[in-house]
Amino acid sequence: MSKREFQTEVSQLLQLIIHSLYSHPEIFLRELISNSSDALDKLRYLTLTDETYKALPFEPRIDLELDEEAKTLTLADSGIGMNEEDLTANLGTIARSGTKNFLAQLSGDARKDSNLIGQFGVGFYSAFMVADRIEVTSRKAGEDKAWRWISDGKTGFEIEPAERAAAGTTILLHFNDEGQQYASSWRLRELVKKYSNHIAFPIYLTYDKSEWNEEEKKSTKSRTTEQVNAASALWRRPKSELKDEDYKELYKSLSGDWEDPLFWFHTRAEGSLEYTTLFFIPAKAPMDLYQADYKGGVKLYVKRVFIMDDAKELLPQYLRFVRGIIDSEDLPLNVSREILQQNRVLTTIRTASVKKILTELKNIAADRPEEYKTFIQLYNRPLKEGLYSDFANRETLLDLIRVKSTAVEGLTSLAEAKARMQSEQKAIYYITGGNETLLRNSPLLEIYKKKGIEVLILDDEIDEIVFSSIDKYAETDLKAVNKSATSDDLKDENAAASAEAIQPLLDAIQATLGDRVKEVRASVRLAGSPSCIVSDEEQPSLQMQQMLRAMGQKDIPAPKPTLEINPDHEIVKKLLPRAAEPIAQDAAWLLFDQALLLEGVPLQDPASFVQRLNQVLALSL
Ligand code: ADP
Repeated sequence: MSKREFQTEVSQLLQLIIHSLYSHPEIFLRELISNSSDALDKLRYLTLTDETYKALPFEPRIDLELDEEAKTLTLADSGIGMNEEDLTANLGTIARSGTKNFLAQLSGDARKDSNLIGQFGVGFYSAFMVADRIEVTSRKAGEDKAWRWISDGKTGFEIEPAERAAAGTTILLHFNDEGQQYASSWRLRELVKKYSNHIAFPIYLTYDKSEWNEEEKKSTKSRTTEQVNAASALWRRPKSELKDEDYKELYKSLSGDWEDPLFWFHTRAEGSLEYTTLFFIPAKAPMDLYQADYKGGVKLYVKRVFIMDDAKELLPQYLRFVRGIIDSEDLPLNVSREILQQNRVLTTIRTASVKKILTELKNIAADRPEEYKTFIQLYNRPLKEGLYSDFANRETLLDLIRVKSTAVEGLTSLAEAKARMQSEQKAIYYITGGNETLLRNSPLLEIYKKKGIEVLILDDEIDEIVFSSIDKYAETDLKAVNKSATSDDLKDENAAASAEAIQPLLDAIQATLGDRVKEVRASVRLAGSPSCIVSDEEQPSLQMQQMLRAMGQKDIPAPKPTLEINPDHEIVKKLLPRAAEPIAQDAAWLLFDQALLLEGVPLQDPASFVQRLNQVLALSL
């Protein structure tokens, strides 16, 4: 026998589970059954696809055996099993990076943490909430030796050679005080029905059944074995036979989530390709949504046989929050990840699945706006990612995303913004490149406010990247207000005259600022402010340039901004006759620097700015 210590993180996790999950100890059974089901899936797959396993007997089942007297439960499966190495690695370390991230996110507040644990699924270790000693006896398929792993869940575990007649895993739980309540056949039956009814394999319960003996006028006990789950691939049944409860339960056993899903979409396709898809939208965003090594949530089945999970090829990356099942009649069982990438059948299913999910979401947005709001709070951002990765569905995605706006509180759709357009309004306008306050107070919005024209406030980091590549929504132009040409829409018959009137001042400012600006010109977009900065159509905004530099892109050419001057502003009017005096030079820098500040761009020479400001202030006093 050899003694080993748990990896530090395992001990940490065990402590947390015991302290945070005390209110839900019952999930231990779901977790263990789901591990068994995975082990059965894996072996079934090998027996169907791998020559060396084809000859092996495969009688998939999960057996629960209750000993009420001894307060023990065994859970046995005829799955893939584990050898000595597997036992050490799987039940003694935390290999998955997701688990490590999860640990890092814990706050120490038991209530919050138990929510987190619920989303993440704690797996095998949850059994230590109900047991003070666990023995795992396992024999790996294709091997002769069996091994036993024993632990009290405190410091470490022991491993010793053991006997097991066939491949599979047997887990013996010695219930602790907390666990005593599960040493009851009706309780176990209830838990299996609640969490694991649709596990595709039969689950049997063996227990001492009490029966009333009429002759002897007393109840007698007899050892009985009964199947306790429905064991159907529920997604293959017609929709009409399925109740909401069935879907919710399947979702929970599939995803490990405790909460009901927000929505689900169940489709059966018949015709040149036959397949079933069932997709769920979780009510909480998956924890790894913004991690590069996120886990895909869709499982692939072929003719009801589980093939693989976490296959990122099944849905585009931006739909990585979707959970569910794709079950195809046409794929070969031995389809590999490599093959998947260029498989025509899968490409077709994938394309149709994306369409289906997006269309259903659009329907929900129209019919159940309140529920859609909840959805958007969680998944607006991934949908925006879709705008620049999924061109085929761009129109639909533009309908699905929501944005802030000067016209309404909260979020709005582009369709609503389009419907609100003024009769003379030529495009849907938006502003990007900063936080909400900065954008809402930008001088670039002044004229739009004055004219009562709505501007979308796109303050999400990715908005600028996404929207700079989109120039139309439903036939209507989408224009950024900080682009130089956008103001052409605002020009009226007086514009040229006002511009000409201040030309001498514009020339003087241009001469002072030299090559810091591309151009100095009269503005038609300002009301209360004397100056603002705009960019060319093609060039990224100043904010964006800063961001790219911060992200390590060193050699971004620094395109020069255009400075616009408001011909109607008091300062400008007073400055015009004095364009040739020295004061005009200080004013030129001040007008430029304040416009930069309002763009959220730090000044190159703040000291000079302050000095000039003070000079001007002194003069005015
Ligand atoms: P998870 O199931 O989330 O990976 P667990 O802690 O529940 O995490 O299990 C760790 C690993 O132990 C599993 O990924 C699997 O490889 C192995 N394992 C657990 N239970 C079984 C079982 N009944 N049969 C075979 N392998 C198992």
